[in-house]
Amino acid sequence: MIEVSKALKIVKRETRPLGAERVALEHAVGRVLAEDIHADVDMPPFDRSQMDGYAVKAADTMAAPVTLGIVGESAAGQGWHKVLKTGEAVRIMTGAPIPAGADAVQKIELTTESNGVVSITEPTSVGKYIVYKGQEVKKGSKVLRAGEVISANNISIPAAFGYARVMVARRPRVAIISTGSEIVDVGRKPKRDQIRNSNSIMLKTLCEQAGAIARVFPIIGDDLSELKTQIKTAARGSDILITTGGVSVGKYDLTRLALKELGAECFFERLRLKPGKPTVFARLKKTLVFGLPGNPVSAAATFYLFVRKAILIMQGAVQCDLNNGTAIVSKPVRAPKERDAYLPAVLISESDGTLKADPLQWHGSSDFIGFAESDALISIPRGSAFDAGSPVPVLFL
Ligand code: AMP
Ligand code: MG
Repeated sequence: MIEVSKALKIVKRETRPLGAERVALEHAVGRVLAEDIHADVDMPPFDRSQMDGYAVKAADTMAAPVTLGIVGESAAGQGWHKVLKTGEAVRIMTGAPIPAGADAVQKIELTTESNGVVSITEPTSVGKYIVYKGQEVKKGSKVLRAGEVISANNISIPAAFGYARVMVARRPRVAIISTGSEIVDVGRKPKRDQIRNSNSIMLKTLCEQAGAIARVFPIIGDDLSELKTQIKTAARGSDILITTGGVSVGKYDLTRLALKELGAECFFERLRLKPGKPTVFARLKKTLVFGLPGNPVSAAATFYLFVRKAILIMQGAVQCDLNNGTAIVSKPVRAPKERDAYLPAVLISESDGTLKADPLQWHGSSDFIGFAESDALISIPRGSAFDAGSPVPVLFL
């Protein structure tokens, strides 16, 4: 049995970034940037008004209320390109350029306009309501770095600087196989002793969320020669192969044997981890193989810890691990002596500002219905226990 931290290092060591490709920006959401994004212009590109109002010389408003003659108008997209002189004002709109000679804006609410003159009711000051050229970003600076995931929050950055197409990492191709003679397709009515395949679609969804292209292969029964044939087929042309089931110590747990007989190099097969002790990590030719336990919660937890990391490393992501933090645990929790525990939990933000982690009342690693509510894993080092009310490390799902 090896430590989880060691297993994570091995996954990192064995995983290589894939190549990159250029895609239209609108297709880049969820993809990992493979180039730095630089500003091709200052932002803002000109001194810009933050308000609707009047561009003036601040000194002219010191003795407000004062009356200034309106000499023009600066609208967004259509500035006023003469020079403002003492005693003058230019009507200006939000986003419009500040005319030369003006050094301040007074907002429309503190003015009244009639017959070509504006009365400024309160003084303004130099720089008021002006965002200066380059104040937000200077031309040439790096505004987004390679390795960041394009999201709704940051996609306006490449858009603003002209990246109609961006370089992104190639999406890892992941093959998914559920194994087990009891497993039947979702569309089938299970006969006696059978259960439906809930793992494949869950793993496909998790892979896609991490940026991969996932393909589900047919279910394989617990039969060595069938396992070998199908594993070989699925691994071909895939960057990653995920199997579930058949990695325990039962008579029909044949995944490891199949991998070994196919000549796969096995990096680990037993972890000091709960859930997920019998997790296998191997390489078959160029394909990384993750043999996850069949129990749905173990499969999900080990995906989050190991496979997700590999998928993100392949894409050159800067952040390849789940976000972590601290929460106050609501019940006593403990880990076994031999294994680090990752306990599914629901996070609750309390009105006093604390983040509470409520460990799930679940029925073990097969309880995917209980697991569905969780949005975090409480991480408990082996042999340790936390009392209710104590801070615990959590991974955010
Ligand atoms: P195994 O890892 O093969 O020992 O399976 C552990 C448990 O997970 C057994 O109860 C299996 O029936 C269940 N299981 C295995 N594969 C799947 C699957 N694809 N979908 C749902 N449950 C599964
Ligand atoms: Mg099985």
